Amino acid sequence: MPMVAATAASVQKQRRSALAALVYTHGECAGESTEIWYPTKDASASFETAVAIAVCLTCPVREACLELALRIDAGQHGIWGGLDERERRTLRKAHKTRLAQARRLDDADARRGGPHRQGRAA
Ligand code: SF4
Repeated sequence: MPMVAATAASVQKQRRSALAALVYTHGECAGESTEIWYPTKDASASFETAVAIAVCLTCPVREACLELALRIDAGQHGIWGGLDERERRTLRKAHKTRLAQARRLDDADARRGGPHRQGRAA
């Protein structure tokens, strides 16, 4: 059997497909009219939006839905995983900040000679 080299892009694509299949099959909103999950700006604080978020909070695939939204597109419209666009933007920004901090720590650690060398005899 030939070995297939998995690239980061192909793994990401497979992950997105798996998440989409899960969400579109098992989401509480699957098969429903999804209008309340896509509020207009004027209706973003409406009763329907609150209902959509309440449904999301009971959804068995909420985490997968949120991950899918975060992976698809930074500007994805609507409520996904119980969060609106603004909340997902904030989450994405916090994640990027943490990743940057982790990379700086990794770089500093590498310069010291390996995992958490500070304070150890070299
Ligand atoms: S979390 Fe909300 S938007 Fe996502 S699948 Fe479930 S009900 Fe639908």
